[in-house]
Amino acid sequence: MATLRFLALKELLNRKPMYIDELGRLTSDYFGKNVFDKAKMKKYLSKEAYNHVMEANDKGTRIDRKMAEQIASGMKSWAIANGATHYTHWFHPLTDGTAEKHDAFIDIDKDGGVVEAFSGKLLVQQEPDASSFPSGGIRNTFEARGYTAWDVSSPAFIVGTTLCLPTVFVSYTGEALDYKMPLLKALSAVDKAAVDVCQYFDKSVTKVNSNLGWEQEYFLVDEALFMARPDLMLTDRTLMGHSSSKDQQLEDHYFSSIPERVIAYMEDFEHEAYILGIPVKTRHNEVAPNQFEVAPIFEEANLANDHNQLIMDVMKRIARKHNFRILFHEKPFKGINGSGKHNNWSLSTDTGVNLLSPGKNPRTNMQFLTFLLNVMKAVYENQDLLLASILSASNMHRLGANEAPPSIISIFLGNELSRVLNELEETVPDKKMTPDQKTSIKLNIGKIPEILLDNTDRNRTSPFAFTGNRFEYRAVGSTANCASALIVLNTVVAAQLKKFKVEVDSLIEKGVKKDEAILQTLKRYIKETKNIRFDGNGYSPEWVEEAARRGLYNVSNVPDAVKAYLKEKSIKVFKDNGIFNEKELEARVEVELEKFTKKIQIESRVLGDLAINHIVPTAVRYMNTLILNVQGLKDVFKDEADYNELVADRLDLIRQTSFHIQNIKNKVHDMIEARKVANKVDDMPEKAHLYDTTVRPYLDDIRSHVDKLELIVDDEMWPLPKYRELLFAR
Ligand code: ADP
Ligand code: MG
Repeated sequence: MATLRFLALKELLNRKPMYIDELGRLTSDYFGKNVFDKAKMKKYLSKEAYNHVMEANDKGTRIDRKMAEQIASGMKSWAIANGATHYTHWFHPLTDGTAEKHDAFIDIDKDGGVVEAFSGKLLVQQEPDASSFPSGGIRNTFEARGYTAWDVSSPAFIVGTTLCLPTVFVSYTGEALDYKMPLLKALSAVDKAAVDVCQYFDKSVTKVNSNLGWEQEYFLVDEALFMARPDLMLTDRTLMGHSSSKDQQLEDHYFSSIPERVIAYMEDFEHEAYILGIPVKTRHNEVAPNQFEVAPIFEEANLANDHNQLIMDVMKRIARKHNFRILFHEKPFKGINGSGKHNNWSLSTDTGVNLLSPGKNPRTNMQFLTFLLNVMKAVYENQDLLLASILSASNMHRLGANEAPPSIISIFLGNELSRVLNELEETVPDKKMTPDQKTSIKLNIGKIPEILLDNTDRNRTSPFAFTGNRFEYRAVGSTANCASALIVLNTVVAAQLKKFKVEVDSLIEKGVKKDEAILQTLKRYIKETKNIRFDGNGYSPEWVEEAARRGLYNVSNVPDAVKAYLKEKSIKVFKDNGIFNEKELEARVEVELEKFTKKIQIESRVLGDLAINHIVPTAVRYMNTLILNVQGLKDVFKDEADYNELVADRLDLIRQTSFHIQNIKNKVHDMIEARKVANKVDDMPEKAHLYDTTVRPYLDDIRSHVDKLELIVDDEMWPLPKYRELLFAR
């Protein structure tokens, strides 16, 4: 009998790589073709309208009504000339992924004919009937009118035949319902705070950008095999599956040559990324079989994040053209590497200086050390928030689980930079410096660039690593909207920079020279942040113990982690910096808890169904063939003395199979009962806690019995594609 699994494998044999057309064009010839960028705005907008958009972008001013009409008209002409028939406000609700609702450009004119229309009003603001998005209770059905408003800082683009306008999504009463609105606020807060601190070093700085270079990891699975795995279809991860005899032990996949079918896929989605102005640059095989990575050139954080969300969509779509399915899940396969999304983050000025890059002289290096230590201090004091911003039902499988980094935030600096900090700590006096001390400290600070250039050592196990000219926030999950992490990071850094300014200014007021005031404050920060510095192996069990001794925060489950948002100090930091009010924070926590609960609920249901409907019947059938065999042997050898010995192994197999079947049945039953209890609870934190502690453990427990059966049951009967097929067939 042909099971779905064997049909899928047969289908796979027919797969061929599909090449994109050879266009014979340079990437730079068509890069950004579908983006309404500055050059196109210049062409399609009046000078006045163009300047108006630029000003709104630079200074955050509002687009006025009259100008909006002009801009909409120019944008429409460009969009229609490029094949667009529809437009949409494109936004980032608190679900996974982005949202869009397309409207055609058509309208009925006064003579009853159809014309192409797009008004300024529709460009700037819309009220989608979006009452089904999670809002954590901010919008009850009476005030369900969330509206979307154009984010001028991220250019409009065309996907297929639709003009997409990046927008924020807010409630009628002004609360953010999305990721973009608070991100923009956090970026503006860090801009302002950083510009103020830059004045100590360079008065000409008027703007500081926060930059993001994401590295997106993903798995590819053949579509036919994917379709034969209901768990992948419904939960994006395998809820069962014994490990393959060979997986990543030989580390022969990492950076090896990219398979033909995969490279064809990569070329195809990269081509589309370039048309959309996404500067993807790096592609390679990752550590696990069938795992890959794509990374762009870094950009301003808001734009970079839009690009990440957009490319995830593009990658999903193009994968299907190549008969692949893409898995962004943090842990689609047990026992091998999961996927992350490193967030490479830095701050840079409008004078062209990277504030996290060592400079060429003592002055610029003091600026570098100032920003470095302020980031370290902000991270140290807000470990709980940083973790809360990245933990999710799926990222929980990576952090704090086996074969992955722990859910402890620490900072890697590398030997050389650590030595620079240690030296500063020792040499900077708490009182007025002597001329000799000044000279020697200056000399030391001046040396940093040479040291760091040679210092390419990396620590892959650190969740927050300094890598020469940026920090890499590595704990972010591959499914995440980076905004969640960036909102927290930029907010706490902004708050810390403000604090630093106050502290240094107060020393200056007391008569301490500026440079000395800065150095004294930095020295104190070096002392205060020691506990978060860790250059060793972050994956080792010793580190978990050591971190506990240092008093570092370690929480690896969503229900406990998200509580950090509602601590008094967190509410204060978000409020003081104008990012979230208390109501918005409560709503966000509610949404996170609900997402978590629902995901575990879905996984639990899918596992229950699969175990009872796929696995148990298969195991019973196999057991029956064993029983028939034993009965047959009894007939044939009934007169032989060693009869019992002859069938002993089969009886043992029957017993083992039966044992696992019984366990599966009982445990699925108990898991359903645990769900029933949890479902009766209305209090969201308690419900999430119950799902985490009473339902979630069954997922592993039941799985272990299924995986044992996979090793016993006849391969021809096994209904689901196995790990060796999912991971190696391509
Ligand atoms: P690796 O895997 O060695 O960390 P990749 O080349 O895969 O390096 O990714 C590095 C990412 O960091 C890229 O997106 C790159 O553009 C980005 N990046 C480089 N410099 C900076 C910077 N100063 N600020 C932010 N991101 C940066
Ligand atoms: Mg990296």
